Amino acid sequence: MFASQAKCRGFEPHRPLFVIIMKYYFCDELNNVLSCFHDRIMSCCSGQIGPVYYEGYRGEKINWDKFRQIKYKAFELLNERDIDKSPCKNCFFLRERKESDIISPKFKLINVSHWTQCNCGCIYCARMLDSKGEISHKLEKSQYYDFLPLLKELYKEDLLDKENLTAFIQGGDISVLKEFEPMVKEFLKQGVKEFYILSNNIKYQPIIKKLLDKDIVHYVTALDCANRELYKKLKRVDKFNQSVDNLKKYAKSKNGGKVHVKYILIENLNDNKDEITNFINLMKRIGISAVEFMIDNKYLLFTNLDETPLPKHYKDLYLHFEQLCKENNINMIFWERTKFVVDKYLLEKI
Ligand code: SF4
Ligand code: SF4
Repeated sequence: MFASQAKCRGFEPHRPLFVIIMKYYFCDELNNVLSCFHDRIMSCCSGQIGPVYYEGYRGEKINWDKFRQIKYKAFELLNERDIDKSPCKNCFFLRERKESDIISPKFKLINVSHWTQCNCGCIYCARMLDSKGEISHKLEKSQYYDFLPLLKELYKEDLLDKENLTAFIQGGDISVLKEFEPMVKEFLKQGVKEFYILSNNIKYQPIIKKLLDKDIVHYVTALDCANRELYKKLKRVDKFNQSVDNLKKYAKSKNGGKVHVKYILIENLNDNKDEITNFINLMKRIGISAVEFMIDNKYLLFTNLDETPLPKHYKDLYLHFEQLCKENNINMIFWERTKFVVDKYLLEKI
């Protein structure tokens, strides 16, 4: 019950006239997101350990009633009395709950991230510990579990909001995942609103071009630089030219504006204005109209920014990036977490 409802009930006959008004919290991620990682199925990808639906999942049969209960039980702890017992404690996604916030059994966003194999080896890769830095080039099954049977069950159990569902496919790289195309086809067959597909873009995927033409995908990749030598240092493979060629092909699709390219800032490598300028110029030349400024997420995960500030020059780099985007009429995209970090620690707006 929310505070305002509690006040109302205070006027019922035979009830004491005092009420305890308690603050309740809400998290849209908890309500809407299901993340299928290689080691567990859980609520969110906040970097915080939110509620877990299944620890160490390896394709076992799931008790769906129990599964459903986990979300409701997690919400029960989101109040000022019980928050210390919640795995969501201190998460910056928590906000005060409004009366219009309804807990839904269905998920609107599914993160598919159940494999770790990849055909490159970015030095900032958070998965490197799991993939042990191996670079694989052939199509493989996930080393952990097959996603397709789980997806079919989720649809059968009516846990996915088909009309509003976003499928976020990220993991190792799609180009080495055997299930990639079958998964996309299953989503299309059963109902999906849109895809977000992340790839290192080393291998051209005709199905992505088709999804772009159908205007049902946001295709996201990280190039992080504008030259081959730096690319080799960042990604540990010599595929800069191939990646740029693929970008050109996707940019020419009917909805090339849905291709967006990240610049992930890595200390002592691409954290300088010249490289950012070259990157934006390259994007303009090849027809990319959306770019993302990002700070190395691995760094953010393992650094307490209240104690160890971000490098001082990051503010200038951010402002330079923003300015170039404005001048070149390129859309600048932000991940919510980066936005929070930039606002709080670089611009000191929060
Ligand atoms: S409050 Fe944070 S940790 Fe909890 S589900 Fe939401 S985003 Fe995840
Ligand atoms: S492309 Fe992605 S999965 Fe592959 S190494 Fe880079 S960050 Fe890791």
